[in-house]
Amino acid sequence: MSLHGKSYIAGAPSLPSPLTFLAVDPQTGAALEPAFYECSEREVEAALAAAEASAPTFRQSTPEMRSFFLEAIATEILALGDALLSRAHAETGLPLDRLTGERGRTVGQLRLFAEVVREGSWCDARIDTALPERTPVPRPDLRSVLVPVGPVVVFGASNFPLAFSVAGGDTVSALAVGCPVVVKGHPAHPGTSELVAGAVNRAVLAAGLPAGVFSFLQGSTHALGKALVQHPKTRAVGFTGSQRGGRALLDAAGARLEPIPVFAEMSSLNPVFILPGALLERGAQIAEGLKNSLTMGVGQFCTKPGLTFAIGGESLEVFREALAKAIHGAAPGTMLHTGISGAFAAAVAAAEVFPGVHRLACGEREADAALPQGRPVILSVGSEAFASQPQLREEIFGPAGLLVEAKNLEDLRHLAEGLDGQLTATIHGTEADLAEARELVAILERKAGRVLFNGFPTGVEVCPSMQHGGPYPATSDSRFTSVGTAALRRWVRPVCYQNFPVPVLPQELRNDNPLGLMRLVNGKLGRESF
Ligand code: NAP
Repeated sequence: MSLHGKSYIAGAPSLPSPLTFLAVDPQTGAALEPAFYECSEREVEAALAAAEASAPTFRQSTPEMRSFFLEAIATEILALGDALLSRAHAETGLPLDRLTGERGRTVGQLRLFAEVVREGSWCDARIDTALPERTPVPRPDLRSVLVPVGPVVVFGASNFPLAFSVAGGDTVSALAVGCPVVVKGHPAHPGTSELVAGAVNRAVLAAGLPAGVFSFLQGSTHALGKALVQHPKTRAVGFTGSQRGGRALLDAAGARLEPIPVFAEMSSLNPVFILPGALLERGAQIAEGLKNSLTMGVGQFCTKPGLTFAIGGESLEVFREALAKAIHGAAPGTMLHTGISGAFAAAVAAAEVFPGVHRLACGEREADAALPQGRPVILSVGSEAFASQPQLREEIFGPAGLLVEAKNLEDLRHLAEGLDGQLTATIHGTEADLAEARELVAILERKAGRVLFNGFPTGVEVCPSMQHGGPYPATSDSRFTSVGTAALRRWVRPVCYQNFPVPVLPQELRNDNPLGLMRLVNGKLGRESF
């Protein structure tokens, strides 16, 4: 399957430009053909103008059309076959079986959103009919529904080249509600992105939608990302990546004449608290599970458990030994790109020289210094040294973890209080442990978007109840999720119609409920018409 290296502006390949960049195979260090053209300011302008022009038609598209569109994207992605997987493997170093699973998740989430759109109740229709006889003031007829915000800019994530990239969770949730999308592909996997963008273009055609509903831009400069966020036609932004990148885009959006929301998923340490009963009962088993979760995907998951807390004593020594042994046996793995592996090595080296920090164990085999590889490592520190050095609470993206030894339950609670916002927080405990740790649970509810019991945070289910978002800096807005069907709420806003003649109202709000939606009518939830 040949690649042309161009961006797609409303379905049409862009013109070649003098500036290009190459993808690199992290497994060999070799540059991969072809060269990809940096997109120009004129193309940014054209993509957003087309997005804005298509927005009214897209908003009016029927649920059936949009469901068909999302399903067609899924079909087109599958039709790319092994060519997609082998290009993604070459550009990211991720194993083929992982990429096959990720493609399944990508296609699955497209189909899940298609179902949500077809069913339709996501629009949260609310109707309060007029009460003309009410005294002292009559009530007008009020009806509200969620409407798309307009063009959304999506930044592809490096660590999910399919499920959080061109046709990933941010894109699909925005398209589902009728927002045109302009994607800035991640420069580490441009060929994968071009293939998927081609698949989306074919689906746009098949669905009979205006071409401007989707554009895809290639580029490897911060200037491109900033220009997209600052463009006056952009109405919202979806981002997954570093805290520094997310914060820069958040600030750029806030500095606009008309600020817009940036839904950025940035960094999380995903703390794991092991309570005394669980440590005694199954310390070795938890150690093995922790090692697996920490090294999965070479630690390049936003939900990697980077911090573990437990109370000192004999059981902790048994756990410590088991964890050290497990990490010692874990092999180095290829990381996504040299920027990530370099940042990983530097962050581990910096953490190791903090007072009170010791290396508990690292992988027996050294990483190949010539390649972007990550060697698993587990560090350990006492609670006082941890609490007094805030730098130890910064994410290390890669297969590294820090074990913090607390003095007692009170100390554990104190440590939990000192944490920043997180995507997840985990408790390992027995029923008796839990009874004593109610306060800890309450603290973790305040700190994290997802609280787990006796499990590990990696492996995020795409479903209606999933919450993948937490207080800053885990995400920029903890009220929303970037995974699961609720992710679409980021791209809509409510509009209330007062005293509108019924035939002029959107279908969702008409008396006869022609779409058969679940609606809140005069305080009662149901599908009835009236
Ligand atoms: P990144 O450097 O944050 O880049 C993500 C995207 O944002 C890229 O398209 C990048 O484009 C753009 N970008 C970054 N900084 C920008 C800025 N100041 N202005 C405008 N655009 C900007 O993330 P990455 O390349 O995926 O990985 C680097 C680090 O991010 C990792 O070491 C890790 O710490 C973190 N990360 C975290 C997660 C997570 O889920 N929490 C996921 C992936 C990565 P350009 O490079 O073209 O400017």
